[in-house]
Amino acid sequence: MAEYRIEFLKTAKKELAKLLEKGFKLLIKYKLLLMMPFEKCLVCGGELIEKKVTKLLRGGVNIASISVTAEVCLSCGERLYSQETVRHFAALRAKLKRGETQEFQLLGQSFEIV
Ligand SMILES: [Zn+2]
Repeated sequence: MAEYRIEFLKTAKKELAKLLEKGFKLLIKYKLLLMMPFEKCLVCGGELIEKKVTKLLRGGVNIASISVTAEVCLSCGERLYSQETVRHFAALRAKLKRGETQEFQLLGQSFEIV
């Protein structure tokens, strides 16, 4: 009976390990699918959390404010943006530079303090 139990436990352990490995592989796949390349802060190695942040974009003399999701470091405050967001920023900066601001909502005037 005791031997049977040990054998059973050994099998159960193996099965559990297999399941865990499967789950782990799935988790990695899922993370890759979500395109989350950052595990830790690239600057200080701190913990990252997903957060809505306001980013100021400048193109030529025009400035626009946009609310986006970023990975924010809990230690140093560094913001990490996904590749998709970075591409979006570049497209918006180009529009601002060309003065194509018709689709943006006007907030007010911007000033440079010299
Ligand atoms: Zn950091």
